[in-house]
Amino acid sequence: MPARTTPLKRTGSPHMAAAKSPIKDIKKRLAAVIDLLEANLGKPIWDGRKDALEVLVLTILSQNTTDGNALRAYQNLSRKLPRAKHAGRDATQIPRGDDGNIDKVKLRLSNCANAIEPPDWAKVAELSQQELADMIRTAGLPDSKAGSILAVLRWIRDVGTGVGTRGSVSAEDQPEYRLEPLIEKLGLDAAIEAMTHIKGIGIKTATVTLIEAMGADLCPVDTHVHRIINRLGIVDTKDARDKTFALLRAMIPEGRAYALHHNLLTFGRTICLARGPKCAECPLRKLCPSAKSFLAVSKLD
Ligand code: SF4
Repeated sequence: MPARTTPLKRTGSPHMAAAKSPIKDIKKRLAAVIDLLEANLGKPIWDGRKDALEVLVLTILSQNTTDGNALRAYQNLSRKLPRAKHAGRDATQIPRGDDGNIDKVKLRLSNCANAIEPPDWAKVAELSQQELADMIRTAGLPDSKAGSILAVLRWIRDVGTGVGTRGSVSAEDQPEYRLEPLIEKLGLDAAIEAMTHIKGIGIKTATVTLIEAMGADLCPVDTHVHRIINRLGIVDTKDARDKTFALLRAMIPEGRAYALHHNLLTFGRTICLARGPKCAECPLRKLCPSAKSFLAVSKLD
């Protein structure tokens, strides 16, 4: 999951709350997990619309690399192919340390869509895959990421004819590449399907874009979400992350998915770590079927 440029907003007054007993019913267990995470961590709230195409490109660039590298690649693209008209973005929103470098802890990449002038997408669409790859090289996997970005732009231009472009285009008034009209026309499920038909865009990339840019009520499944939901016995999906997404989606109560996603990321980085989960101090311990075996192993260490 890409980071952001501003801290995640949360509501509620976080306090210590812990599960009191195991819960057999899986849906009820999930509901208890959602409540307990919100009690302990607060309820993350969506911080408003961002340009979906910009979030999608930033998310593609962030695959298998650091957010800092993805941001540098995006900024390079914007510098090389600037738009004639500025979008009025405020680059001071990007958090920096005293040394002037990007603050990697505070950075929230999806919000860079509100902080960085986007490139001229029409000019990007005219690049060859090699030319684009050279401009985004710092993000790694430049050839495949360039291919994905060009495919997205072609999709908007060709499939979205008359939807994603302005009617009359003067030299100053540039073609407007926008993803929102396509997504809104297709609806959530068809939009996810169409996006994931593009090589290099998986369900996680598509759903991260939809929740961060448009506030969709979805819980993208990254490595943290997949690991924790399996450990909690809510699903049993081994390596099949997309299956976790589908099963989880059917069980999450309406309006709770965004907060669950972000709370699981925080929880996965602080308590339910990939290696050596801190079960002894975990508020979910009593309802987690994995706790016993992890605690037994830690006693042997
Ligand atoms: S008890 Fe351990 S394995 Fe279960 S959710 Fe908590 S930290 Fe993760």
